[in-house]
Amino acid sequence: MDRDDQYEIYMIRYGRSDRNRPENFYLGDPHDTPMPIEYFYWVIRNAARSFVVDTGFNAETAGRRGRELLRPVPEGLQVLGMTPDAVSDVILTHMHYDHAGNNDLFRGARFHLQEQEMSFVTGKCMCHDLLRHPFEEEDVVTMVRNVFAGRVEFHDGASEIAPGISVHRTGGHSKGLQCVRVNTARGPVVLASDAAHYYEHIEQNRAFAVFENLTDLLEGYRLLKKLAPSMQHIVPGHDPAVFERYPPAEGMEGWGVRLDLPPSH
Ligand SMILES: [Zn+2]
Ligand SMILES: [Zn+2]
Repeated sequence: MDRDDQYEIYMIRYGRSDRNRPENFYLGDPHDTPMPIEYFYWVIRNAARSFVVDTGFNAETAGRRGRELLRPVPEGLQVLGMTPDAVSDVILTHMHYDHAGNNDLFRGARFHLQEQEMSFVTGKCMCHDLLRHPFEEEDVVTMVRNVFAGRVEFHDGASEIAPGISVHRTGGHSKGLQCVRVNTARGPVVLASDAAHYYEHIEQNRAFAVFENLTDLLEGYRLLKKLAPSMQHIVPGHDPAVFERYPPAEGMEGWGVRLDLPPSH
């Protein structure tokens, strides 16, 4: 790749969990049929720089929360010739346990996080069990230590973090949730993360069962559509269907795809 503002994007599956449709929608769903959830992280890179987007959960958290850890996060990075302690920049879309674990492995990284997410996870909202549930205390404490070590770069709303890469706060699902817009050879690709868990949520304007502010969640879909040239440039954060649409990444057949290449549909 010649241009330093265009990137390859890898989406790597590291975990999964069985569940039925009603669990994945606010106010449920009339069809009580299987709708498994999958867990992913992303790598954005070109010859000039690389970013890891989200850091997954580890085996201990998976066991405690009844999730299946398919491959520990370092395995995917290894295929791409990376090791966690050599990663220089991590973008955290939000602080939920399935996006912000394993931070102890990324010992040298600078973390890109929305300021609102940090105040959310260290403020009065965490006194409420329902709001605290998707967060791991250890992930939050580790991030506080990163703040004190000068290793967190806070963003407030929209921010360009490198040529061709920007973050945009949507809120809704979590107070400081941000999506990531990445310039590629096929145009800008928007990694929705949990601003759209499945294609169905954004296509039908429905809400995932976990949220902090329903208005911001729904407004988030408008922002995603504004940031992307088409629906084929928006990638949901937990939908197994992504793997049916995108070509496999070399060395990660079955568990990694390339989002910078065009989808089949
Ligand atoms: Zn989440
Ligand atoms: Zn999530």
